[in-house]
Amino acid sequence: MATPQIVIIGPPGAGKGTQSSNIEEEYGVEHITTGDALRSNKDMDISYLDTEHDTPRAYMEAGELVPDVVVNEIVAEALSAADGFILDGYPRNLEQATELEEMTDLDMVLSLDVSREELIRRLTGRRVDPETGDIYHTEFNMPDDEEVQERLEQRDDDSREAVERRLDVFEDTTAPVVEHYRDYEGFVEIDGEQHPEDVWDEIKKAIDAHIDD
Ligand code: AMP
Repeated sequence: MATPQIVIIGPPGAGKGTQSSNIEEEYGVEHITTGDALRSNKDMDISYLDTEHDTPRAYMEAGELVPDVVVNEIVAEALSAADGFILDGYPRNLEQATELEEMTDLDMVLSLDVSREELIRRLTGRRVDPETGDIYHTEFNMPDDEEVQERLEQRDDDSREAVERRLDVFEDTTAPVVEHYRDYEGFVEIDGEQHPEDVWDEIKKAIDAHIDD
């Protein structure tokens, strides 16, 4: 496996973004994340699809999935330009998993497991610094600088209501994708409730073992 092609899957708040950045840095692959791509294109006009909402923003703020066609196109374009990747936030339903199988092959699927209670704690306490994009947490990690503290914002979809909805969507729609990959030889399940450094140790060992195979 020269430049690995990896999917990381798990509920919102499981630490996919953090671990994807570690993988990107360690293995020199591209971090492709549909959540960030959609956040940068929130107000794109998708009214031509004639679906429930006219922009990605409306789906995201409600904690619902953005229509497959929009997301599939973002991923297809990003994959065509990547030499090795860590794909984060996709596929989120079985249709997207089928679409991905047509686009490319995977070396590994990493599944992060975290309890619902812990996810609610992580997500509702999460705050973002709008100037730097740095992520903080009201309980675990606040900035020392009062000026930074004051400007912190909560992501619209980190409200308690949207978080509950996003976790329901994961359980109903994305958990079947995890089951779909479970018997696949590159599938590895990781306990995402550990300290992020311990999660990273486990992921790195799993990838290195797979590379050596
Ligand atoms: P994330 O940052 O991965 O939690 O994604 C934030 C929001 O973007 C999700 O709640 C969805 O509304 C949307 N989104 C991200 N990835 C996908 C996807 N693969 N399919 C549909 N919607 C997505």
